[in-house]
Amino acid sequence: MSESRAAIFADLHCHSLYSDGVDRADEVARKAAAAGLKAVALTDHDTTEGWDEFSESARSCGVEPIPGIEVSATHGREVHVLGLFIDPRDAAIRVYAKSRRDARGARVRRICARLAELGMRVDGNEIVAKAGCNAGRPHVARALVAAGHASSVSQAFQKWLGDGRPAYVEYERIAAVDAIAMIRSAGGLASLAHPGLTDVDRHMAGLVAAGLGAIEAYHADHTGATAARYVRLAATLGVCVTGGSDRHGDESPGRHVFGSAGLIADDFRQLVARR
Ligand code: AMP
Ligand code: ZN
Ligand code: FE
Ligand code: FE
Repeated sequence: MSESRAAIFADLHCHSLYSDGVDRADEVARKAAAAGLKAVALTDHDTTEGWDEFSESARSCGVEPIPGIEVSATHGREVHVLGLFIDPRDAAIRVYAKSRRDARGARVRRICARLAELGMRVDGNEIVAKAGCNAGRPHVARALVAAGHASSVSQAFQKWLGDGRPAYVEYERIAAVDAIAMIRSAGGLASLAHPGLTDVDRHMAGLVAAGLGAIEAYHADHTGATAARYVRLAATLGVCVTGGSDRHGDESPGRHVFGSAGLIADDFRQLVARR
């Protein structure tokens, strides 16, 4: 990426308390405005429940709110599909969100039971109740840190919660092609989130054939070279490019902050015109 990169105009990937972010949805909007963003999509994991709170707050501080979701799906491996510009009240999305919420709560309780067997007591019911919507491993990780069983969230993942670690509990995910279909029938654009982290490049053409309409080339975990590679791949496949910070608000990895990744104004306008 060039040194004189224009300022980020739109952030199409961030999280609130409605999934595993730490800020309320209205605070996300306010902080986005303070960071100078003009358009922001709230893309909580498997829920659109934050939409009213987020959109009202965003409009009041001059930010264009874009309804979104980040669907945890599978395509041989875990892949995340962003649904952007969806109808947040779409019936099928709501049914999906409700089923995910129930399944995720049950999974967190199973993780906590596993941890108890390993000698660590964190209260699954309390974590689920506090998480409100989409309890997940990050909430358990924070509880482990608070209880002194890990020095940081990332250490909690490394020692206990990460894939293949002793307290890892698998859970069912929707197929990526079904996630794409659901997003499209809710009027949205499906974008493959952080492809640089998921190693699905060889499946990208197939996903595009299934209706994938964009690739998230710009992401806080992508280097400039990675972003450029996905911009080229998107052009080759004839799909759009999206971008976002994937901010969760705890700023623990240091780089997932507003302004770290997203779309410049021209690219955002092009996306809106093309989608
Ligand atoms: P879950 O949806 O409950 O399986 O949790 C997945 C979420 O955990 C991801 O979206 C990340 O936010 C977070 N996560 C996954 N791996 C790590 C890790 N090694 N360190 C910190 N956070 C992680
Ligand atoms: Zn997350
Ligand atoms: Fe993701
Ligand atoms: Fe995300």
